[in-house]
Amino acid sequence: MSAPDVAALFRQYFGAEPEVVALAPGRANLVGEHVDYCGGLVLPVAIGVRIGVAMRRLSPRSASTAVSGTGAEGAARFDPLALRPVGRWTDYLSGVAGVLAALGTTIPPVEVAVASDIPVGAGLSSSAALSVAAAMAFSALAGEPCDPRALATVALRAERSFVGIPCGIMDPLAVSLGRAGHAIAIDCHAGATELLPFDGAVLLVDTGAQRALVASAYRQRVTECAMALDAVRLVDPATRDLASASPAAVEAALMSPEVRRRARHVVGEMARVRQAIAQLRASGTLDGALLSASHDSLRDLYECSTPALDWLAREATRLPGVAGARLTGAGWGGCLVAIGDDDALRASAPRLAAGFASQFGRPPRWWLLHAADGATLESGHVAHRS
Ligand code: ADP
Ligand code: MG
Repeated sequence: MSAPDVAALFRQYFGAEPEVVALAPGRANLVGEHVDYCGGLVLPVAIGVRIGVAMRRLSPRSASTAVSGTGAEGAARFDPLALRPVGRWTDYLSGVAGVLAALGTTIPPVEVAVASDIPVGAGLSSSAALSVAAAMAFSALAGEPCDPRALATVALRAERSFVGIPCGIMDPLAVSLGRAGHAIAIDCHAGATELLPFDGAVLLVDTGAQRALVASAYRQRVTECAMALDAVRLVDPATRDLASASPAAVEAALMSPEVRRRARHVVGEMARVRQAIAQLRASGTLDGALLSASHDSLRDLYECSTPALDWLAREATRLPGVAGARLTGAGWGGCLVAIGDDDALRASAPRLAAGFASQFGRPPRWWLLHAADGATLESGHVAHRS
């Protein structure tokens, strides 16, 4: 998605030029899954698919309208300063506008056009990209552009508190702070980030499965991790969060077999992320076996995989030059991420897709992408007002 494409959609619907266009990428997490809300370390890359948000302010008391190029709803009215979500995608716009308003930013009535090539609901964080781009556009419109960290915080608060998704800081930080040729190590407890060299290709294959279970299953896992932490603290009261629990404390604590499996995943995944960060710091390359071990743990311990994801992970790593693969995002559907030699991934993708189609009866969408820059404001479209 490019700024001119988004501006063209805006002109088509509203017959005027947008004042601002903000673009934000999707993200793929390389390793460190389901540890963000446990205070752990994650290692995402921003990826070269983007959402664009074009905006223009209207005169006071006008009705705000938004259109999304992917939405079947057409242009819809929405209230940027709504007090409650209405259950539509425009809640993300109202969410960030409300958070910005609470911080003192003036939010006028607006026209908004959204165009995207980030698949929706595939685990590549179209929601954080939408929130970050919208926050960037609203703040630019007010003449008070936020720095990337502030944008991520606004997007997180909007998605958590307004839209009502119990997500972590990883997605908005990755979308906001991403850098071409780099992965971002994020300490989800401290909010600290470190850009690490990573210029390898990333193959993403979307299982296309309906993720109806995701929201409830995700909440259940968050609860199970909280239960595991309570149990670990009875053994070791100084434990800061589940991600920093020692494997010995997890084994010693009294918990159900199910909750223990979740905790084992979290502490095992943390060890893998630490290894991955050390590898990137030292050489800019990542051992694919870490991704494959992560998948096994998500399948067996966290129980958030699906037969389609398991099939893709297994078959991908059988192809020559594919170093490792795992589900990325929350799971229960969504995408596989594979890393390896660029040319090998390019050659493998069609074979993997064809095999998937004959196995599951539908051809999957796939993308071969590299680490990309985080959210940007297209200066050609920024309004300069006195
Ligand atoms: P993802 O893994 O893609 O972030 P989510 O379920 O968290 O999946 O977020 C998807 C939601 O984000 C959609 O249901 C919609 O509300 C919003 N969204 C994402 N992309 C768009 C878009 N291009 N247009 C409108 N809404 C979008
Ligand atoms: Mg999301």
